[in-house]
Amino acid sequence: MAPNSQWNGQFSRFDLVAKTAERCRTVIHIRELTIGDSAFVVMAGPCAVESEQQLLTTAEAIAQAGAQVLRGGAFKPRSSPYSFQGLGVDGLKLLSKARRETGLAIVTEVMSEEDVDIVAEYADIMQVGTRSMENYSLLEALGGCGRPVLLKRGMTARLEELLQSAQIIAEAGNPEIILCERGIRTFETATRNTLDLAAVPVLKTVSHLPVIVDPSHGTGIRCLVPLMARAAAVIGSDGLLIEAHPTPEKAWSDAAQTLSLEEFDEMMRDLRRYVHFAPVFDIVGPQLLVAGGPN
Ligand code: PEP
Ligand code: MN
Repeated sequence: MAPNSQWNGQFSRFDLVAKTAERCRTVIHIRELTIGDSAFVVMAGPCAVESEQQLLTTAEAIAQAGAQVLRGGAFKPRSSPYSFQGLGVDGLKLLSKARRETGLAIVTEVMSEEDVDIVAEYADIMQVGTRSMENYSLLEALGGCGRPVLLKRGMTARLEELLQSAQIIAEAGNPEIILCERGIRTFETATRNTLDLAAVPVLKTVSHLPVIVDPSHGTGIRCLVPLMARAAAVIGSDGLLIEAHPTPEKAWSDAAQTLSLEEFDEMMRDLRRYVHFAPVFDIVGPQLLVAGGPN
């Protein structure tokens, strides 16, 4: 894809994450898994770790359906102080048990710099949530955590600001970053957030980092998730982050956007028909390397 000249210099000043002729793509290796090469990686699981039975049932089902990474929040950033805040370290222990039993890698959120060491002890991938994208002391602390970081786009952040946060993690010593489009706040209220799918080809063109899409938070509506997942696969996303639960209607958080395990399996079967259509983003436009530009 020929880069749009409007992007001249807008992104290239984040030199550690910007795409260059020498650095077209970053491939991240996690256990037997690679993210950022031609594989399409699906990360799935409940919004929050609730119990051993909930997590293990989910883990087995998503592994069977073809997912490679189990997600589940142990430290939950909730907008209301009265909502369930997560099981904390007990949740991390359950995630690690699920990994032992299924071989799935684990992604889970880290909310504060004080928790970086404990989360890194259990997680294969450290998730930075939308509310923390601008928590600069957390981003800096992740520079030395020794684990890849899944960096979610802030709900009011421009792509430039997402890449700025990625640059901070890279500058702090950690080049293994996966970007995640999870929807942004707009005036639209029919969906929970506005899933900005154009972010995928833009980010894949201007940055060498892998990009995944989270249609669960991106739409907030269960029936839209498989359709948006299909779209993400077709436009060249490196993977997905999906909320799934054995009994979604009883999920302690994000029930309305969570797939049942049967729906998840159906989505995975559907995706097999579409991942081959994804464009390749290995081309570097020389104009992207020019400093300066709009903004
Ligand atoms: C989550 O993944 O459950 C989550 C809280 O996501 P976000 O930070 O995108 O809201
Ligand atoms: Mn959630």
